[in-house]
Amino acid sequence: MKKESLTGRAIDSYCTACESMRPHTIMTMRGENVLKVTCQTCAGTHKFLAAKPLGKAEQAKAREAAAATRRAEMRKASFDEALAQLNTNKAREYNLAEGGYKINDLIKHNVFGYGIVDEVEGRSKMIVRFREGSRRLVFNYPV
Ligand SMILES: [Zn+2]
Repeated sequence: MKKESLTGRAIDSYCTACESMRPHTIMTMRGENVLKVTCQTCAGTHKFLAAKPLGKAEQAKAREAAAATRRAEMRKASFDEALAQLNTNKAREYNLAEGGYKINDLIKHNVFGYGIVDEVEGRSKMIVRFREGSRRLVFNYPV
């Protein structure tokens, strides 16, 4: 049995001329997909749009969010790789009252987990790379 054609039926589509969702008439189909529609408000014929397309700023935002997610995943993967090269049994428990931290030391933080010392700033601050990102920690702190 031949499927009934939907051409000529009404469908809601976003109209780029009216800049809103409007009732449209289906003009052309390809298989199950609606290709072209005619707006019942402005009579313009255009591609069927099931929802409002993203604006340029929204597209840029979506791309940036996707890129940030990719960067975070890559950072976690590279952290896992670096950690795999180290002996976690030798990790030093982080204690802000103690000193003597050096670059590449492996530490264990009670909240952030394992961390690798990337930078030591003077006698009391260091930048430590954790799986969730880098943080500045203090040490030699009088308690
Ligand atoms: Zn329209």
